[in-house]
Amino acid sequence: MDLTSIPLRKMILKEKYGEKLPEKSIMKASSDHHAKRRPRPCGLTIHPAIGCVNQCIYCYIQDMGYNFNNITPYGLSGAEMVYALLSNPYFMPTINGTYIAIGSVTEPFHERVKGKTMEYIKAFEELGNPVQFSTKEYIDEELAKKIAQIKIPISPLITIVTLKSKNVLEPKAPDIELRIKTIRNLRAEGLKPMVFIRPIIPGITDNEAEEIIDEAKRAGAVGIVAGSLRLTRSIMERMSKLGLDVKFIREAVEGEGAWKAKRRIMEIAEERGLKAFPSSCCANAYVSGTTCINLCKNAIREVPKANVEDVRNLVKNIVGKRVRDVIFNDNSIRILMEEKLTRREKDILKYDLRVILRRIISIV
Ligand code: SF4
Repeated sequence: MDLTSIPLRKMILKEKYGEKLPEKSIMKASSDHHAKRRPRPCGLTIHPAIGCVNQCIYCYIQDMGYNFNNITPYGLSGAEMVYALLSNPYFMPTINGTYIAIGSVTEPFHERVKGKTMEYIKAFEELGNPVQFSTKEYIDEELAKKIAQIKIPISPLITIVTLKSKNVLEPKAPDIELRIKTIRNLRAEGLKPMVFIRPIIPGITDNEAEEIIDEAKRAGAVGIVAGSLRLTRSIMERMSKLGLDVKFIREAVEGEGAWKAKRRIMEIAEERGLKAFPSSCCANAYVSGTTCINLCKNAIREVPKANVEDVRNLVKNIVGKRVRDVIFNDNSIRILMEEKLTRREKDILKYDLRVILRRIISIV
């Protein structure tokens, strides 16, 4: 695909959705936070629901103001969500565009919201972006088939951080056997599920890592993503109430041990012949066959071909301003602007060009 045409594709799609959506939907979608947020390192996170009822002890959503007692489907329809994304200046469509990540602050396949999640993923088909979801829910054969029929790269992450202490750590989340069956069902449909070993809880996950990986491999997982634990005051309080050794966990998370544990878990997976990634975006890159938007060495393939004229056209199409000079280095591009950019324009341009060109961008 001609990379310079990506911003134009975005404009054409936005116009198309603008014509088919009623004015009220356009207003709702353009003022939604999905239309404004800067993507996180793993891509743009999409929230198909508000809140989560699984009450995992290590979960940070309460600290972000989300509810632990209720889960409600998000208020935008699939088409409205697409319009919101196309209104977001940091979002670029197509397989070479922004990675989409679903499930960071909710359980996307909870019974009450899985319809909304599927509506969104189906709607993203026209955008073409690589989509990733993380879940602890049971995805049955029928749902796995529906997911596999959607014609965009989809990277499923199935969270398992313990086999033995699930009832303590994730009291209301689905049983591990169901998650293992989810991996099996997704694999049977030709998808590439990975086990999401995040967070690594010191003294629990690291001790059970071999068993988790073996179970996941038997079910058909193609790899693992290992991730660390984010400790907040409320998470520590919850852990303490359950009798976990918070002092030990805190020291392990804050010291060098956290990285060592992650490294070791990745080594175990590799020894078993599985792919092992330190972040979820690497799995999204692997499944979609694209160079990681974070340019990390774990997944980098090759930077797309581009020349000075391509960069000039992209800058013009993204911020409508002229370029004086473009200097290519190995994996980076330095752009000297003819016209001055505002701070926000610079931020948007840097991010968008980084996504489209998969290089480090500097603008002066
Ligand atoms: S399933 Fe995910 S979002 Fe829900 S409580 Fe557990 S960690 Fe938090």
